[in-house]
Amino acid sequence: MNAVVSGLSEALRSWAGVLGREYVDVDPSILKQASTATFETRARALAILHPATREDVQECVRIANRHRVPLYPISSGKNWGYGSRAPVHDGVLLDLGRLDRIRQFDPNLAYVTIEPGVTQRHLHEFLTSKGSTLWMDATGASPDCSIVGNTLERGFGHTPMGDHASTACAFEVVLPNGEIITTGFGQFDSARATPLSRAGVGPALDGLFLQSNFGIVTAMTVWLMPAPEHFEAFFFLCDDPRGLGPIVEALRPLKLNGTLRSALHIGNDYKVIAASGAFPWDRVGDGVLDEAVMVDMRARHGIAAWSGSGGLYGTRVQVREAKRLVKRALAGKVNQLRFIDDRRLSLMSRLARPLSLVTGRDINRLLNVLRPVYGLLKGIPTGSTIASAYWRKKTTVPEAEQVDPDRDGCGLLWCSPVVPMTGSAIAEVTDLSSRTLLDHGFEPQMSVSLATDRMAICVVTITYDRAQPGADAAALTCYEALAEALQEKGYPLYRRNIAKMTLAPTSSSYTHLLRDLKSALDPNGILAPGRYEPAAGVGDSALIRRRA
Ligand SMILES: Cc1cc2nc3c(=O)[nH]c(=O)nc-3n(C[C@H](O)[C@H](O)[C@H](O)COP(=O)(O)OP(=O)(O)OC[C@H]3O[C@@H](n4cnc5c(N)ncnc54)[C@H](O)[C@@H]3O)c2cc1C
Repeated sequence: MNAVVSGLSEALRSWAGVLGREYVDVDPSILKQASTATFETRARALAILHPATREDVQECVRIANRHRVPLYPISSGKNWGYGSRAPVHDGVLLDLGRLDRIRQFDPNLAYVTIEPGVTQRHLHEFLTSKGSTLWMDATGASPDCSIVGNTLERGFGHTPMGDHASTACAFEVVLPNGEIITTGFGQFDSARATPLSRAGVGPALDGLFLQSNFGIVTAMTVWLMPAPEHFEAFFFLCDDPRGLGPIVEALRPLKLNGTLRSALHIGNDYKVIAASGAFPWDRVGDGVLDEAVMVDMRARHGIAAWSGSGGLYGTRVQVREAKRLVKRALAGKVNQLRFIDDRRLSLMSRLARPLSLVTGRDINRLLNVLRPVYGLLKGIPTGSTIASAYWRKKTTVPEAEQVDPDRDGCGLLWCSPVVPMTGSAIAEVTDLSSRTLLDHGFEPQMSVSLATDRMAICVVTITYDRAQPGADAAALTCYEALAEALQEKGYPLYRRNIAKMTLAPTSSSYTHLLRDLKSALDPNGILAPGRYEPAAGVGDSALIRRRA
């Protein structure tokens, strides 16, 4: 029996005493599900705890320390493509879903303070129920994803508030020793600017709790944006496979000068085809979609080599001017550029049938793809994108409430390098990714998100059916080969999955510091061991050597 398991039974008794027996899951079938992700994982969830308050969380942490049992916090545990709910090593999941209060809403200063169990759906419904004109940001993941969980992973969405880590502050954190702090001005009990500023006085601590295992966040403030006077989405198509670089070069000045305030997302043909329908099993059997099939599918579904979307936010005059600048920037670089606002979208919906007859295109099908993206640009969460995780499954996609890619054996791995926003860098990354995936027998689905003003995140998707013998191993081999090749070229991943969390960092001084921080904050190593940690043995620090 290993050390973790030996302390477990006593810890379970103590946790049940604090939380109540019904809030400590030990049912093997539930634990098996919780240890299952969208790719092969080996570690086991040994139990699942469901605290309801931050005091419960503190108590759970103290017990974990007493019995040396590792705890892995999750907010909604839908970290699909990066590890879902599964722990990095054997340990107990701390499911924060019951901490689901919106603690504070300030309509004038445009923020909410929320707990980890608050989902995208919950906040959207809350704002709607208040008749608020404030918009939240939403990711393309499920409406039932946690906003806190996504932010802590440095996730991103679609509106001007889409870079989540930079639009959140005042993290309330339970430290591994059970104490609580609030970051920023939260160090002062009475500071009225706590929810308004990421900086405090002195060193800023927020960053310590993003993609880390230094604390459990039990609340944070998330900023909202006032609905603009006018909003228009734009969509463009580019038939030239080499056309992405020039598009990025054309759009970057508009990002830097503030004309384009939100993230822009540009998907390749594979990505769009996967989002818009089921795999054509009749055409290719179990193989990879080859160029001949792609040509036909592009023609059939009106899909270009690259398809992009973005939003324009402001007064009517500002949006009109932004439109002019976008048109001018993209002239000659795209084959189609369309602007859509609420009025035009509702007109298209009403006239879908006659429009289909006149244009020969299935306008309803087009609207089904368009509407969710349009909504995301306004911060409206959607349940429609998750179907793409089932792309290589021969089974039908379950109804929205039943969707569960972990349970259904959907193979999904995201490999997400961070790239300078230049045409040449982005072309280098997309070419390398495309070649690597095809060489390993996977379709190279890719999107490029112009996430901030200067850098892009390229999300390369490895999608497969986990039921296919050997597919899990092949997918991880492909992921590893791509991650290493990208890092070598200067494009490390911005976010890691739990199977490959310990991709070695290159600077040993950086590693020393991380290790020193970890051992100072969590001397018993009970919080999420292995999560965003350097590989064992890499850069062992003086402090660790002293402690040993
Ligand atoms: C079709 C599809 C589309 C997607 N689109 C997007 C997208 O547009 N943008 C995007 O960013 N992602 C996207 N994803 C990826 C992923 O599903 C989301 O990022 C999702 O929000 C992460 O899961 P979660 O919110 O349930 O977080 P969780 O799984 O709860 O948390 C993620 C990790 O953060 C840590 N953590 C969570 N809560 C806490 C806490 N309170 N304290 C300390 N540590 C904590 C844990 O280590 C946990 O494993 C998509 C996935 C799919 C399948």
